[in-house]
Amino acid sequence: MVTTTKELINLITETDLLNEANACTTDRTLDTTPLSEEHAFAFWQKDIPEAYWNLGGTQLANRIAEARTKLGDRCVVLGHHYQREDIIQFTDYRGDSFNLARWAADRGDAEFIVFCGVHFMAEAADILSQPHQKVVLPNMSAGCSMADMAEPDDVYACWDELQEAGITGVIPITYMNSAASLKAFCGHNGGIVCTSSNAPKVYDWAFERGSKLLFFPDQHLGRNTGIKRGIGLEEMSVWDYNLPYGSLGGNTLEQLERSKVILWKGHCSVHRRFSVAQIEKAREQYPDVTVVVHPECLMEVVQAADMDGSTEFITKTITNAEPGSVWAIGTEINLVSRLARENPDKTVFCLDPVVCPCATMYRIHPAYLAWTLDELAEGRVVNLVDVPEEIAKHAKVALERMLSVK
Ligand code: SF4
Repeated sequence: MVTTTKELINLITETDLLNEANACTTDRTLDTTPLSEEHAFAFWQKDIPEAYWNLGGTQLANRIAEARTKLGDRCVVLGHHYQREDIIQFTDYRGDSFNLARWAADRGDAEFIVFCGVHFMAEAADILSQPHQKVVLPNMSAGCSMADMAEPDDVYACWDELQEAGITGVIPITYMNSAASLKAFCGHNGGIVCTSSNAPKVYDWAFERGSKLLFFPDQHLGRNTGIKRGIGLEEMSVWDYNLPYGSLGGNTLEQLERSKVILWKGHCSVHRRFSVAQIEKAREQYPDVTVVVHPECLMEVVQAADMDGSTEFITKTITNAEPGSVWAIGTEINLVSRLARENPDKTVFCLDPVVCPCATMYRIHPAYLAWTLDELAEGRVVNLVDVPEEIAKHAKVALERMLSVK
Protein backbone atom coordinates (compact mmCIF):
# COMPACT_ATOMS: atom_id res chain seq x y z
CA MET A 1 0.00 0.00 0.00
CA VAL A 2 1.34 3.41 -0.96
CA THR A 3 1.07 5.83 1.91
CA THR A 4 2.79 9.04 0.91
CA THR A 5 2.67 11.26 -2.12
CA LYS A 6 6.34 10.57 -2.75
CA GLU A 7 5.74 6.81 -2.81
CA LEU A 8 2.78 7.34 -5.10
CA ILE A 9 4.88 9.44 -7.46
CA ASN A 10 7.61 6.78 -7.50
CA LEU A 11 5.01 4.20 -8.35
CA ILE A 12 3.67 6.40 -11.10
CA THR A 13 7.17 6.81 -12.53
CA GLU A 14 7.56 3.04 -12.67
CA THR A 15 4.31 2.51 -14.52
CA ASP A 16 4.74 1.46 -18.17
CA LEU A 17 1.63 3.33 -19.22
CA LEU A 18 3.18 6.55 -18.11
CA ASN A 19 6.74 5.91 -19.17
CA GLU A 20 5.53 5.36 -22.70
CA ALA A 21 4.19 8.89 -22.79
CA ASN A 22 7.47 10.57 -21.84
CA ALA A 23 8.11 11.04 -25.53
CA CYS A 24 5.63 13.87 -25.41
CA THR A 25 7.61 16.00 -22.98
CA THR A 26 8.34 19.34 -24.57
CA ASP A 27 10.81 20.99 -22.23
CA ARG A 28 11.84 23.91 -24.39
CA THR A 29 12.68 27.53 -24.81
CA LEU A 30 9.80 29.95 -24.34
CA ASP A 31 8.18 30.97 -27.62
CA THR A 32 7.06 34.60 -27.58
CA THR A 33 5.68 34.79 -31.10
CA PRO A 34 2.85 37.39 -31.03
CA LEU A 35 -0.56 35.85 -30.60
CA SER A 36 -3.72 36.28 -32.60
CA GLU A 37 -5.64 39.48 -31.92
CA GLU A 38 -8.76 37.68 -30.74
CA HIS A 39 -9.89 39.17 -27.43
CA ALA A 40 -10.78 37.37 -24.21
CA PHE A 41 -14.41 36.76 -23.38
CA ALA A 42 -14.83 38.22 -19.94
CA PHE A 43 -18.12 36.42 -19.39
CA TRP A 44 -16.31 33.09 -19.11
CA GLN A 45 -14.91 34.12 -15.73
CA LYS A 46 -16.32 37.46 -14.73
CA ASP A 47 -13.69 38.57 -12.25
CA ILE A 48 -10.83 38.78 -14.75
CA PRO A 49 -9.89 42.51 -14.54
CA GLU A 50 -11.24 44.64 -17.37
CA ALA A 51 -7.72 45.73 -18.27
CA TYR A 52 -7.11 42.27 -19.75
CA TRP A 53 -10.28 42.09 -21.89
CA ASN A 54 -9.01 44.03 -24.84
CA LEU A 55 -5.25 43.46 -24.81
CA GLY A 56 -3.92 42.57 -28.24
CA GLY A 57 -1.85 39.50 -29.06
CA THR A 58 1.55 41.21 -28.90
CA GLN A 59 0.78 42.85 -25.56
CA LEU A 60 -0.36 39.53 -24.11
CA ALA A 61 2.69 37.68 -25.41
CA ASN A 62 4.96 40.28 -23.83
CA ARG A 63 3.13 40.22 -20.49
CA ILE A 64 3.20 36.42 -20.30
CA ALA A 65 6.92 36.33 -21.14
CA GLU A 66 7.69 39.06 -18.59
CA ALA A 67 5.76 37.35 -15.80
CA ARG A 68 7.35 33.99 -16.58
CA THR A 69 10.82 35.56 -16.46
CA LYS A 70 10.02 37.11 -13.08
CA LEU A 71 8.72 33.83 -11.70
CA GLY A 72 11.53 31.70 -13.16
CA ASP A 73 11.67 28.12 -11.86
CA ARG A 74 9.09 28.89 -9.17
CA CYS A 75 6.40 28.31 -11.78
CA VAL A 76 5.74 25.50 -14.25
CA VAL A 77 3.10 25.89 -16.99
CA LEU A 78 1.41 22.71 -18.22
CA GLY A 79 -0.72 22.37 -21.37
CA HIS A 80 -3.10 19.59 -22.33
CA HIS A 81 -2.84 18.26 -25.90
CA TYR A 82 -6.20 19.89 -26.73
CA GLN A 83 -5.11 23.42 -25.80
CA ARG A 84 -4.99 26.12 -28.46
CA GLU A 85 -1.63 26.91 -30.05
CA ASP A 86 -1.41 30.38 -28.49
CA ILE A 87 -1.37 28.67 -25.08
CA ILE A 88 0.80 25.66 -25.98
CA GLN A 89 3.57 28.05 -27.07
CA PHE A 90 3.96 29.15 -23.43
CA THR A 91 3.91 25.73 -21.78
CA ASP A 92 6.85 23.84 -20.31
CA TYR A 93 5.20 20.48 -20.87
CA ARG A 94 2.32 19.18 -22.89
CA GLY A 95 0.59 15.85 -22.51
CA ASP A 96 -2.57 14.13 -21.34
CA SER A 97 -4.14 14.87 -17.98
CA PHE A 98 -2.48 12.12 -16.00
CA ASN A 99 1.02 12.64 -17.34
CA LEU A 100 0.76 16.37 -16.77
CA ALA A 101 -0.12 15.70 -13.13
CA ARG A 102 2.91 13.43 -12.89
CA TRP A 103 5.23 16.01 -14.38
CA ALA A 104 3.85 18.61 -12.01
CA ALA A 105 4.73 16.39 -9.08
CA ASP A 106 8.20 15.71 -10.52
CA ARG A 107 8.85 19.44 -10.58
CA GLY A 108 8.95 19.75 -6.80
CA ASP A 109 11.06 22.90 -7.15
CA ALA A 110 8.08 24.67 -8.72
CA GLU A 111 5.95 26.41 -6.14
CA PHE A 112 3.19 27.15 -8.65
CA ILE A 113 1.70 24.81 -11.23
CA VAL A 114 -0.33 26.72 -13.80
CA PHE A 115 -2.51 24.08 -15.43
CA CYS A 116 -3.77 24.96 -18.91
CA GLY A 117 -6.48 22.35 -19.20
CA VAL A 118 -9.86 21.81 -17.58
CA HIS A 119 -10.96 21.68 -13.95
CA PHE A 120 -10.77 17.93 -13.26
CA MET A 121 -7.19 17.90 -14.56
CA ALA A 122 -6.14 20.68 -12.22
CA GLU A 123 -7.77 18.74 -9.36
CA ALA A 124 -5.77 15.62 -10.27
CA ALA A 125 -2.59 17.72 -10.34
CA ASP A 126 -3.43 19.05 -6.89
CA ILE A 127 -4.03 15.53 -5.53
CA LEU A 128 -0.76 14.20 -6.96
CA SER A 129 1.43 17.24 -6.38
CA GLN A 130 3.48 17.88 -3.28
CA PRO A 131 1.97 19.70 -0.30
CA HIS A 132 3.93 22.93 -0.83
CA GLN A 133 2.83 23.25 -4.48
CA LYS A 134 -0.15 25.39 -5.49
CA VAL A 135 -2.20 24.55 -8.58
CA VAL A 136 -3.77 27.38 -10.57
CA LEU A 137 -6.35 27.04 -13.36
CA PRO A 138 -6.18 30.21 -15.51
CA ASN A 139 -9.94 30.23 -16.14
CA MET A 140 -12.20 28.66 -13.52
CA SER A 141 -15.00 28.26 -16.04
CA ALA A 142 -12.89 25.78 -18.04
CA GLY A 143 -14.76 22.63 -17.07
CA CYS A 144 -15.40 19.44 -19.00
CA SER A 145 -18.92 18.90 -20.28
CA MET A 146 -18.51 15.14 -19.97
CA ALA A 147 -17.28 15.32 -16.36
CA ASP A 148 -20.24 17.62 -15.60
CA MET A 149 -22.65 14.92 -16.78
CA ALA A 150 -21.79 12.94 -13.64
CA GLU A 151 -22.85 15.20 -10.79
CA PRO A 152 -21.68 13.58 -7.53
CA ASP A 153 -25.18 13.69 -6.02
CA ASP A 154 -26.61 11.84 -9.04
CA VAL A 155 -23.92 9.15 -8.76
CA TYR A 156 -24.54 8.73 -5.01
CA ALA A 157 -28.29 8.45 -5.70
CA CYS A 158 -27.66 5.80 -8.37
CA TRP A 159 -25.48 3.85 -5.95
CA ASP A 160 -28.17 3.97 -3.25
CA GLU A 161 -30.84 2.93 -5.72
CA LEU A 162 -28.80 -0.07 -6.85
CA GLN A 163 -28.28 -1.16 -3.24
CA GLU A 164 -31.99 -0.75 -2.44
CA ALA A 165 -32.89 -2.81 -5.50
CA GLY A 166 -30.65 -5.62 -4.24
CA ILE A 167 -28.05 -5.21 -7.02
CA THR A 168 -24.88 -6.20 -5.20
CA GLY A 169 -21.25 -6.97 -6.07
CA VAL A 170 -20.93 -3.68 -7.99
CA ILE A 171 -17.48 -2.11 -8.39
CA PRO A 172 -17.56 1.61 -9.26
CA ILE A 173 -15.08 2.79 -11.90
CA THR A 174 -14.59 6.41 -12.75
CA TYR A 175 -12.78 7.66 -15.80
CA MET A 176 -10.00 10.13 -15.10
CA ASN A 177 -12.33 12.77 -16.61
CA SER A 178 -14.42 13.22 -13.48
CA ALA A 179 -14.60 15.36 -10.36
CA ALA A 180 -12.20 14.62 -7.50
CA SER A 181 -15.18 13.79 -5.28
CA LEU A 182 -16.12 10.92 -7.61
CA LYS A 183 -12.59 9.57 -7.54
CA ALA A 184 -12.91 9.73 -3.74
CA PHE A 185 -16.28 7.93 -3.95
CA CYS A 186 -14.59 5.10 -5.86
CA GLY A 187 -11.73 4.99 -3.37
CA HIS A 188 -14.22 4.74 -0.52
CA ASN A 189 -16.39 2.04 -2.12
CA GLY A 190 -13.83 -0.49 -3.35
CA GLY A 191 -13.59 1.12 -6.77
CA ILE A 192 -10.91 2.48 -9.02
CA VAL A 193 -9.99 5.18 -11.57
CA CYS A 194 -9.12 4.41 -15.20
CA THR A 195 -7.62 6.27 -18.14
CA SER A 196 -8.42 5.66 -21.79
CA SER A 197 -5.14 3.71 -22.00
CA ASN A 198 -5.67 1.24 -19.20
CA ALA A 199 -9.47 0.80 -19.11
CA PRO A 200 -9.42 -2.88 -20.30
CA LYS A 201 -6.95 -3.86 -17.56
CA VAL A 202 -8.96 -1.93 -15.00
CA TYR A 203 -12.05 -3.95 -16.05
CA ASP A 204 -10.10 -7.17 -15.38
CA TRP A 205 -9.08 -5.83 -11.96
CA ALA A 206 -12.67 -4.95 -11.12
CA PHE A 207 -14.12 -8.28 -12.27
CA GLU A 208 -11.70 -10.08 -9.95
CA ARG A 209 -13.43 -8.24 -7.09
CA GLY A 210 -17.07 -7.98 -8.12
CA SER A 211 -19.64 -9.31 -10.57
CA LYS A 212 -20.78 -5.97 -12.03
CA LEU A 213 -19.26 -2.60 -12.87
CA LEU A 214 -20.79 0.85 -12.61
CA PHE A 215 -18.79 2.92 -15.10
CA PHE A 216 -18.97 6.72 -15.28
CA PRO A 217 -19.12 9.26 -16.77
CA ASP A 218 -18.45 8.20 -20.42
CA GLN A 219 -20.77 5.49 -21.73
CA HIS A 220 -18.76 5.18 -24.96
CA LEU A 221 -15.40 4.44 -23.36
CA GLY A 222 -17.22 2.07 -21.01
CA ARG A 223 -19.01 0.26 -23.86
CA ASN A 224 -15.95 0.09 -26.13
CA THR A 225 -13.94 -1.34 -23.24
CA GLY A 226 -16.65 -3.88 -22.45
CA ILE A 227 -16.59 -5.10 -26.05
CA LYS A 228 -12.79 -5.39 -25.94
CA ARG A 229 -13.28 -7.64 -22.92
CA GLY A 230 -15.82 -9.85 -24.68
CA ILE A 231 -18.92 -8.48 -22.95
CA GLY A 232 -21.99 -8.51 -25.21
CA LEU A 233 -24.23 -5.48 -25.70
CA GLU A 234 -27.08 -7.38 -24.00
CA GLU A 235 -24.89 -7.53 -20.88
CA MET A 236 -24.50 -3.76 -20.73
CA SER A 237 -27.20 -1.31 -19.66
CA VAL A 238 -27.26 2.48 -19.64
CA TRP A 239 -28.16 4.46 -16.52
CA ASP A 240 -30.05 7.63 -17.45
CA TYR A 241 -29.23 10.09 -14.67
CA ASN A 242 -31.92 12.51 -15.90
CA LEU A 243 -34.69 10.22 -14.66
CA PRO A 244 -36.15 10.60 -11.16
CA TYR A 245 -35.05 8.53 -8.17
CA GLY A 246 -36.77 5.16 -8.25
CA SER A 247 -36.70 4.79 -12.05
CA LEU A 248 -33.62 2.52 -11.95
CA GLY A 249 -32.05 4.84 -14.50
CA GLY A 250 -34.64 3.73 -17.09
CA ASN A 251 -33.90 0.00 -16.70
CA THR A 252 -35.96 -2.91 -15.45
CA LEU A 253 -34.69 -4.86 -12.46
CA GLU A 254 -34.13 -7.85 -14.77
CA GLN A 255 -31.98 -5.76 -17.11
CA LEU A 256 -29.79 -4.61 -14.24
CA GLU A 257 -29.52 -8.13 -12.82
CA ARG A 258 -28.42 -9.40 -16.22
CA SER A 259 -25.92 -6.56 -16.78
CA LYS A 260 -22.23 -6.99 -16.22
CA VAL A 261 -21.61 -3.30 -16.90
CA ILE A 262 -23.91 -0.41 -16.02
CA LEU A 263 -22.87 2.58 -18.12
CA TRP A 264 -23.51 6.17 -17.03
CA LYS A 265 -25.24 8.08 -19.81
CA GLY A 266 -22.46 10.61 -20.35
CA HIS A 267 -20.51 11.45 -23.47
CA CYS A 268 -17.85 13.75 -24.86
CA SER A 269 -19.41 16.28 -27.20
CA VAL A 270 -16.18 16.47 -29.21
CA HIS A 271 -15.68 12.75 -29.79
CA ARG A 272 -19.34 12.00 -30.40
CA ARG A 273 -19.17 14.02 -33.61
CA PHE A 274 -17.17 11.38 -35.49
CA SER A 275 -19.13 9.01 -37.73
CA VAL A 276 -18.74 5.88 -39.83
CA ALA A 277 -19.68 7.96 -42.91
CA GLN A 278 -16.61 10.16 -42.29
CA ILE A 279 -14.42 7.05 -42.15
CA GLU A 280 -15.91 5.74 -45.41
CA LYS A 281 -15.31 9.10 -47.08
CA ALA A 282 -11.68 9.20 -45.90
CA ARG A 283 -11.14 5.68 -47.33
CA GLU A 284 -12.70 6.68 -50.63
CA GLN A 285 -10.42 9.69 -50.88
CA TYR A 286 -7.25 7.95 -49.66
CA PRO A 287 -7.34 4.16 -50.23
CA ASP A 288 -4.12 3.78 -48.18
CA VAL A 289 -5.38 5.74 -45.20
CA THR A 290 -5.12 4.38 -41.65
CA VAL A 291 -7.92 5.56 -39.39
CA VAL A 292 -7.17 6.05 -35.69
CA VAL A 293 -9.81 7.30 -33.26
CA HIS A 294 -10.16 7.96 -29.54
CA PRO A 295 -12.16 5.37 -27.53
CA GLU A 296 -14.57 8.11 -26.40
CA CYS A 297 -16.03 7.85 -29.94
CA LEU A 298 -19.21 5.89 -30.67
CA MET A 299 -18.89 2.11 -30.70
CA GLU A 300 -19.66 1.95 -34.46
CA VAL A 301 -16.85 4.43 -35.16
CA VAL A 302 -14.29 2.57 -33.01
CA GLN A 303 -15.23 -0.69 -34.73
CA ALA A 304 -14.96 0.82 -38.21
CA ALA A 305 -11.55 2.43 -37.48
CA ASP A 306 -8.25 0.62 -37.95
CA MET A 307 -7.16 1.37 -34.41
CA ASP A 308 -8.19 3.31 -31.34
CA GLY A 309 -6.37 4.70 -28.35
CA SER A 310 -5.69 7.58 -25.99
CA THR A 311 -4.27 10.97 -27.00
CA GLU A 312 -0.83 9.70 -26.01
CA PHE A 313 -1.32 6.59 -28.16
CA ILE A 314 -2.44 8.68 -31.12
CA THR A 315 0.47 11.09 -30.70
CA LYS A 316 3.00 8.29 -30.48
CA THR A 317 1.48 6.39 -33.42
CA ILE A 318 1.63 9.38 -35.76
CA THR A 319 5.09 10.46 -34.60
CA ASN A 320 6.49 6.97 -35.23
CA ALA A 321 4.63 6.37 -38.52
CA GLU A 322 6.44 5.79 -41.82
CA PRO A 323 7.12 8.88 -43.95
CA GLY A 324 4.55 9.08 -46.74
CA SER A 325 1.83 7.32 -44.71
CA VAL A 326 -1.70 8.74 -44.58
CA TRP A 327 -3.65 9.17 -41.33
CA ALA A 328 -7.24 10.15 -40.62
CA ILE A 329 -7.71 10.96 -36.96
CA GLY A 330 -10.82 11.10 -34.81
CA THR A 331 -9.97 13.37 -31.92
CA GLU A 332 -9.86 17.06 -30.95
CA ILE A 333 -8.80 19.42 -33.73
CA ASN A 334 -6.01 21.27 -31.90
CA LEU A 335 -4.14 17.99 -31.40
CA VAL A 336 -4.79 16.84 -34.99
CA SER A 337 -3.62 20.17 -36.47
CA ARG A 338 -0.46 20.11 -34.33
CA LEU A 339 0.31 16.51 -35.36
CA ALA A 340 -0.16 17.53 -39.01
CA ARG A 341 2.26 20.44 -38.58
CA GLU A 342 4.84 18.39 -36.66
CA ASN A 343 4.75 15.54 -39.20
CA PRO A 344 5.11 17.26 -42.57
CA ASP A 345 6.43 14.03 -44.14
CA LYS A 346 3.02 12.35 -43.58
CA THR A 347 -0.54 13.21 -44.57
CA VAL A 348 -2.49 13.78 -41.35
CA PHE A 349 -6.05 15.09 -41.24
CA CYS A 350 -9.11 15.20 -39.04
CA LEU A 351 -12.00 12.85 -39.88
CA ASP A 352 -14.51 15.59 -39.21
CA PRO A 353 -14.43 18.26 -41.93
CA VAL A 354 -16.15 20.68 -39.56
CA VAL A 355 -13.67 21.91 -36.97
CA CYS A 356 -14.39 20.34 -33.57
CA PRO A 357 -12.43 22.03 -30.79
CA CYS A 358 -13.20 21.32 -27.16
CA ALA A 359 -15.17 24.45 -26.25
CA THR A 360 -14.17 24.41 -22.59
CA MET A 361 -10.45 23.84 -23.23
CA TYR A 362 -10.72 26.84 -25.52
CA ARG A 363 -11.63 29.05 -22.57
CA ILE A 364 -7.99 29.13 -21.49
CA HIS A 365 -7.39 32.29 -23.51
CA PRO A 366 -3.93 33.96 -23.31
CA ALA A 367 -5.54 36.90 -21.44
CA TYR A 368 -6.40 34.54 -18.57
CA LEU A 369 -2.91 33.07 -18.59
CA ALA A 370 -1.39 36.57 -18.55
CA TRP A 371 -3.65 37.62 -15.66
CA THR A 372 -2.89 34.58 -13.44
CA LEU A 373 0.86 34.80 -14.12
CA ASP A 374 0.92 38.56 -13.45
CA GLU A 375 -0.84 37.95 -10.13
CA LEU A 376 1.60 35.18 -9.15
CA ALA A 377 4.54 37.42 -10.06
CA GLU A 378 3.06 40.03 -7.70
CA GLY A 379 2.77 37.46 -4.90
CA ARG A 380 -1.01 36.89 -5.19
CA VAL A 381 -2.52 33.50 -5.99
CA VAL A 382 -5.75 33.67 -7.99
CA ASN A 383 -7.81 30.73 -9.28
CA LEU A 384 -6.33 28.27 -6.79
CA VAL A 385 -7.56 24.68 -7.18
CA ASP A 386 -7.42 23.12 -3.75
CA VAL A 387 -9.03 19.70 -3.25
CA PRO A 388 -10.16 19.25 0.39
CA GLU A 389 -7.90 16.87 2.30
CA GLU A 390 -10.58 14.26 3.01
CA ILE A 391 -11.52 14.05 -0.69
CA ALA A 392 -7.89 13.97 -1.79
CA LYS A 393 -7.15 11.12 0.65
CA HIS A 394 -9.87 8.83 -0.75
CA ALA A 395 -9.25 9.88 -4.36
CA LYS A 396 -5.62 8.90 -3.94
CA VAL A 397 -6.73 5.39 -2.86
CA ALA A 398 -8.61 4.96 -6.18
CA LEU A 399 -5.61 6.33 -8.10
CA GLU A 400 -3.25 3.98 -6.26
CA ARG A 401 -5.45 1.04 -7.21
CA MET A 402 -5.27 2.13 -10.84
CA LEU A 403 -1.49 2.33 -10.63
CA SER A 404 -1.29 -1.14 -9.14
CA VAL A 405 -2.98 -2.57 -12.26
CA LYS A 406 -0.31 -4.04 -14.53
S1 SF4 B 1 -12.54 16.83 -25.22
FE1 SF4 B 1 -14.42 16.00 -24.26
S2 SF4 B 1 -13.73 14.81 -22.48
FE2 SF4 B 1 -11.99 16.15 -23.13
S3 SF4 B 1 -12.21 17.99 -21.86
FE3 SF4 B 1 -13.31 18.41 -23.78
S4 SF4 B 1 -15.45 17.78 -23.35
FE4 SF4 B 1 -14.16 16.90 -21.74
